[in-house]
Amino acid sequence: MQALVKVAPGRGNVEVREIQDPTPGPGEVILDVSFTGICGTDLHIYLDEYRCVPPVVLGHELSGRVAALGAGVDAIAIGDRVTTETYFSVCGRCIQCLGGRQNLCPARRSIGTHVNGGFARYVRVPAHRLHRVPDGLSLESAAMTEPLSCCVHALYDLAHIRPGDWVLVSGPGPIGLLCLQTAMAAGARTIICGAGGDAQRLDIARRIGADHAIDVTREPLAEMVQDLTGGDGPPIVVEAAGAAPSLRQCLHVVQRGGTVVQIGLYGRPVEADVNLIPMKELRYLGSFAHVPSAWERSLALMARGAIKTAPLITGIAPITAWENQFHSLLEKEGCKVLLTPVS
Ligand SMILES: [Zn+2]
Ligand SMILES: [Zn+2]
Repeated sequence: MQALVKVAPGRGNVEVREIQDPTPGPGEVILDVSFTGICGTDLHIYLDEYRCVPPVVLGHELSGRVAALGAGVDAIAIGDRVTTETYFSVCGRCIQCLGGRQNLCPARRSIGTHVNGGFARYVRVPAHRLHRVPDGLSLESAAMTEPLSCCVHALYDLAHIRPGDWVLVSGPGPIGLLCLQTAMAAGARTIICGAGGDAQRLDIARRIGADHAIDVTREPLAEMVQDLTGGDGPPIVVEAAGAAPSLRQCLHVVQRGGTVVQIGLYGRPVEADVNLIPMKELRYLGSFAHVPSAWERSLALMARGAIKTAPLITGIAPITAWENQFHSLLEKEGCKVLLTPVS
């Protein structure tokens, strides 16, 4: 089968290659991949800003149908529509695994970074990581369960967002737009902001119902946010841009005593005025990936229409067209692009 492979460490070194079809071991299944989303992580790996273990097939945001069962798999059937959690293996014994935080297991191996992922016709995954796609939810949307579960974990598990809260999301990429909707689904009042080049993504934010969508290069964000929130600033600010100016802005506009949730990754050390954390008595929360419980909640939110993914999907292309799609996304053209396998 053809697969999009990070072939060696370093910048670039990504190509479509012919590799062997996988076969399932005990407790594993083979999925016939329907759609796999291009994630910021894939772009970071392409730019050599995120660790992976090459040669490895990239892609971890996927949906598909069960194509083959390994020994001992009986809870799922061939043909079932599924999405898969990305953790291929965790140690199961460390304090993080025992505490339900498998995302922090130091021995975690994930598809698309440590073991072969979803930019291919077939992918091999553990059966216990699968989630059935609810009837009526498309496989395109199901491919976005992984990024959505990151946002559900950040905003519901960690930030404990409440109805009526003002939430500012900085960065209208796919994660920012899913955080926006996660906040909306919890009854929050929402502001999302972006910088130059984000016009298309801010338009998507308006279409999916953001209360306010602000281009910080044209409008004075700090004043506008102060006005909207009665002078206090938003109690919860989500840094989803993965850009240093965005982080500095988040620390500046967040309410005194408020919470900054950092879900963006920068790929390198960045500079910001951390004096503001003690001076404003901020809670500074990092959120990384997801925990298993976030998956079923994410699927339920999409299935009932509380979170819409279709407006975010700006392109669907075969994996052989990966290079154009990666470069467009690096230029912030489009929002979420799904790649499809080629035979
Ligand atoms: Zn992802
Ligand atoms: Zn562990």
